[in-house]
Amino acid sequence: MLANFLIELDRAHLIHPVASYRGHERQGVRVLKSASGATVTEANGHQLIDGFAGLWCVNAGYGHESIIEAATKQLRELPYATGYFDLGSEPAIRLAAELAERAPGDLNRVYFTLGGSDAVDSTIRFVRYYWNAKGEPQRDQFISIQQGYHGSTTVGAGLTALPAFHAGFGLPFDWQHKIPSPYPYRNPVGSDDVAIIASSLAALKARIEEIGADRVAAFYAEPIQGSGGVIVPPRGWIKAMRELCKSYGILFIADEVITGFGRTGPLFASTDEGIVPDMMTVAKGLTSGYVPMGAVFMADHVYDVIADGAGEAAVGHGFTYSAHPVSAAVALEVLKLYEGGLLENGVKAGQRLLAGLQSLSDHPLVGEIRGRGMLYGVELVTDKVKKTPLPAAAQPARRIFDRAWDNGLVIRAFPQGVLGYAPPLCCTDADIDAIVERTRKTLDETLQDPDIRQAMA
Ligand code: PLP
Repeated sequence: MLANFLIELDRAHLIHPVASYRGHERQGVRVLKSASGATVTEANGHQLIDGFAGLWCVNAGYGHESIIEAATKQLRELPYATGYFDLGSEPAIRLAAELAERAPGDLNRVYFTLGGSDAVDSTIRFVRYYWNAKGEPQRDQFISIQQGYHGSTTVGAGLTALPAFHAGFGLPFDWQHKIPSPYPYRNPVGSDDVAIIASSLAALKARIEEIGADRVAAFYAEPIQGSGGVIVPPRGWIKAMRELCKSYGILFIADEVITGFGRTGPLFASTDEGIVPDMMTVAKGLTSGYVPMGAVFMADHVYDVIADGAGEAAVGHGFTYSAHPVSAAVALEVLKLYEGGLLENGVKAGQRLLAGLQSLSDHPLVGEIRGRGMLYGVELVTDKVKKTPLPAAAQPARRIFDRAWDNGLVIRAFPQGVLGYAPPLCCTDADIDAIVERTRKTLDETLQDPDIRQAMA
């Protein structure tokens, strides 16, 4: 069997991102072979609804012929052109202009990367360059948020605040600080929006004062914390945080790697929240995952300081594959699809998904359902009143994921027992209904897990 052969090769040679290496050797790989719309098919023929759009990235869904044509045309015409120095390609130039036109406020400059991690990493370099150019080199301290995720580079992973990304890696650095997550379901101040916003503001203010207001370079926030467990701050939270940063002259970076490109409804969550960050990072939905690409949006005033600071010297930051023409051609086509009906369909499908997930709230394991657009988290507990998390012994991340998979559903199961949903925006009513139905079956089976039963006894 081809699949078994691949499993053995994988076991022997392929190191998987964010996997338990020994656990993976025991478990073996699941090999995906093909996909169409919102359905993915394993090499062994098993079909699943992809309720997580790959890794919250295939926002357009699978198998769009027009994307394939755009990539093929570009591959034939000009498969590579460097963006270094004064060189470029038509798709990259057009894409930068199209994106700038749609970005919030004066985020008119676009720097292309290969994905989200190097987009975040690029912002860190740009922030440092900015403050040096401005004559404030002592501003070298960065603040981000507990449960936040900002990628996996050496420096970006220190802004990330998930234990697995720090343990054993010597992170975070001592110039990387955190404030508590706004986490409405588990916030010590309760779930009231006003109280949560006030408490986050107080925490940020205290941390800034403690570090020294003239030493803080930048603050990073996701409009919705994704990998931390789909944590949705109250409306108005991000605006309040942005304003506080502005009052201290601290750069505000919105990390929209997940929330960009229709995931929460509109093209960018920042626009929806009425904020203009100083820089904004995107990736994933930018090319709908068909090829790798990310980007940093930079406000005019930040760009001007860097440009004037450098003068005639080169700003030494670049990748061989920055502004890759094939990725840019794909992104241009994906943008057309979003605006040609996919965003609209995503909003409709999202309403159906929310209603469907809410219908699960009577299930004994469901503590909270939260989210927006096509991005939801379902937090599971063994006691709804005490909000008791699932026991670690029940290995929620692995066992629930496996059960859902066997039931024909791809979701993400976070270690603390939160189920993550981020289906393609192209989902039909039938896809959404299948996601909900298969979730219920998965929850019913999870209720029979001996470790869960013991915790609930
Ligand atoms: N920032 C956020 C908010 C993310 O969710 C991610 C990835 O999930 C990243 C950055 C890193 O992006 P990538 O995995 O493309 O490097």
